[in-house]
Amino acid sequence: MNTTDTQTTDHLMTTYARLAVSFERGDGAWLIDGQGRRYLDALCGIGVTSLGHAHPAVAEAVCQQARTLIHSSNLYGITLQQQLANRLTALAGMERAFFCNSGAEAVEAGIKLARLHGHTQGYTLPTIIVAEHSFHGRTLATLSATGNRKVQAGFEPLVQGFLRVPYNDMAAIETVARNTSEVVAVLVEPVQGEGGINIPDNDYLPRLRALCDSKGWLLMLDEIQTGLCRTGRWFAHQHAGITPDVMLLAKALGNGVPIGACLAAGPAAAVFHPGNHGSTFGGNPLACRAALAVLDTMEQQQLAARATALGHQLRRGLRDRLAGHPAVREVRGLGLMIGIELTIACGDLTRRALQHGILCSLQAERVIRLLPPLTLSDDEAQLIIERIAALIDDCAAQPA
Ligand SMILES: *Cc1c(COP(=O)(O)O)cnc(C)c1O
Repeated sequence: MNTTDTQTTDHLMTTYARLAVSFERGDGAWLIDGQGRRYLDALCGIGVTSLGHAHPAVAEAVCQQARTLIHSSNLYGITLQQQLANRLTALAGMERAFFCNSGAEAVEAGIKLARLHGHTQGYTLPTIIVAEHSFHGRTLATLSATGNRKVQAGFEPLVQGFLRVPYNDMAAIETVARNTSEVVAVLVEPVQGEGGINIPDNDYLPRLRALCDSKGWLLMLDEIQTGLCRTGRWFAHQHAGITPDVMLLAKALGNGVPIGACLAAGPAAAVFHPGNHGSTFGGNPLACRAALAVLDTMEQQQLAARATALGHQLRRGLRDRLAGHPAVREVRGLGLMIGIELTIACGDLTRRALQHGILCSLQAERVIRLLPPLTLSDDEAQLIIERIAALIDDCAAQPA
């Protein structure tokens, strides 16, 4: 067997239906395959490489730290972890951070925190309100919180203690507030990513905040996809002028180096005590050094403002180019989180996208999702518009 054959997946569990390409190298907004073909990356490894590939600041930080200290243990002090906690809590107006290695682990920490908080208040079955069409991860608790039957099917019995309501529907949640006594928290995404770039009304988060305040519930925001400048602010909830009690981060935090975080403020920041929760790798010096380089770069290059400008350019360009297109229902988004809802099903869209030299994803069967790097040039943004429009023309001309 040729072990360099990228299509040889015999020994990998088939958890993914992989497309027939593998990338050898990255350069900013571009990925390069083994044949030297270049693809414009408008997906960023699903919202991870927000600074683009092979970013020099991150590469330098990781190389230096690898030569100094990769891992010690959370049994001892970790200076870089302290520094990262200081930076993140200051940026978010939060008080304390717990570090882990992925988004699902960040949500797990939030769920455990909410339950422990509930138990200390005397609830025996603390319940968390979650939304339809949400996505929170693939571990048992996070898939149980996720509002997508496909993610859950086959893994029953699900973890109990979640109550599901329609997203962006205050009336539904107010009904729950009147009729359910053991609610301890609400967990939602400020913009649903996997669910198809669903943007709630402007007053949704402020009204949720007010309801949580009046009921003594924790407001927990899953900002794993929306956070870290993606939507044009450091964190998407800042558009709404509110602060959550718990915020979950991962994806872009390490620009590809695995790291997740659970941040908390107020009473939620004082819930965990030694022995309640932990992680061997979480917050190790290598990951924290990478994350500090990411935050420095985002701040120095003012990438939140850049995401806003690029988001406008992309949505305007896409709307102009696709105006009146019978296959397009809507172009929507916030900053560089963009959805193009189609009127037609195009099951092999991501494969066709490769032929057009672009990477994107398809959500909820009909929504093309773009999560391009925040470091995109104006010309690269223009190229995304042209390639996505050509891709949609292609799908409309010969449906799957
Ligand atoms: C990606 C994602 C997760 C899960 O993150 P993993 O690192 O894959 O575990 C959770 N919530 C949201 C909103 C996400 O986008």
